Amino acid sequence: MSRCRAQSLSTRVLRVRVKDRHAAWLSGLAREVNTVWNYCNDLQGRVFERERKLLSGFDFWPYLRGSTRGECALQLPVQAVQETAEQYAKSRRQHRKVKLAWRKSGGARRSLGWVPFKVRTIRYAHGQVYFAGRWLSVWDSWGLQAYELRAGRFSEDARGRWYLNVTVEVKRPAQHQPAEAGAIGIDLGLKELAAMSDGSKVAAERFYRELEPALAVAQRAGNRRRAKAIHAKIADRRKDFLHKLTTKLARRHGVVCVGDVNAKALARGPHAKSVLDASWSAMRTMLRYKCADAGAWFVEVPEAGTSRMCCACGAMCGPQGVEGLAVRQWSCTVCATTHDRDINAARNILARGLAILEQQFAAAGEARVDEAAVNEIGRHHAGSVGVGHGPPVVGIPVL
Ligand SMILES: [Zn+2]
Repeated sequence: MSRCRAQSLSTRVLRVRVKDRHAAWLSGLAREVNTVWNYCNDLQGRVFERERKLLSGFDFWPYLRGSTRGECALQLPVQAVQETAEQYAKSRRQHRKVKLAWRKSGGARRSLGWVPFKVRTIRYAHGQVYFAGRWLSVWDSWGLQAYELRAGRFSEDARGRWYLNVTVEVKRPAQHQPAEAGAIGIDLGLKELAAMSDGSKVAAERFYRELEPALAVAQRAGNRRRAKAIHAKIADRRKDFLHKLTTKLARRHGVVCVGDVNAKALARGPHAKSVLDASWSAMRTMLRYKCADAGAWFVEVPEAGTSRMCCACGAMCGPQGVEGLAVRQWSCTVCATTHDRDINAARNILARGLAILEQQFAAAGEARVDEAAVNEIGRHHAGSVGVGHGPPVVGIPVL
């Protein structure tokens, strides 16, 4: 594989969560989209009866021209109205029907909110997205300022949360380059609580360091109550720290991959085991729901072999087994890359996690022929995989 292979462009869909305070306004726009959709559906029905003719997206344009002007003008930008008509025509073609189901704005079978837009209808500045005359705040888990935003849509999930799904062009990095900042892999361990694929580490003993002398004094004096209180303080600090760490990870990254390690698998003293087990599972739980809230993907990855494999060439020549735990640094016998044991594992976890996501996206993409046409409540969860929200959107940065 050549290192200097030319960078090629590929299109990705990035998904970010829109803050809840904009939900009502977006729902208002979604009702207008439904009105446009249903108008097209009605018009198509009448034209077909009269002329046996199917209309293209472009054919609708003259009929929609007045919709964004005058006294009862829609709030939607004209491009969003046109895009709705085009999506309607596309969907009708895909379903091979003359007419489609009506989009319902209320009731039990309400269509989930959906607002499509064309290229150059939205823009991004200072952490906000401008659309239809408003600045919308988003949980920017992808770092949108790095991309040129193209066409896309706003969509609502079954819980009433809104997301911006926007296509961008990304350069596919050549092999051996570090992953994009959008995705991160995390290896949970004994010495370091966490090692990240970006090269950073969180030491496991950091919660004890300051309180250890006080704990030793209390234990020597046989003061059980005091020792218990210090243990509680350590636990509090650990929890607080884990909250800050996981919030940062979920907000900064679009994809978070974590190994599925558990302490039982590792030989150690009973105390260390239980504490680590608690930290690891607390961290995974926090990441799971914080990623769901921030619109990021959370993937739990089978860890087996991630320490042994060289993340640069894939050779299985790293340290293994319990004896191998002592080895912190090693060099690959095949490609001669020098590795930090845990960072190498984190990079393998990231690559494995991204591969799992891609697979799931492909499977879900087939099931979801046209979400726009059939995204009624109830059907929405069918394609949901691995994470706490909505159907997956095709598009993640790949190594
Ligand atoms: Zn290697």
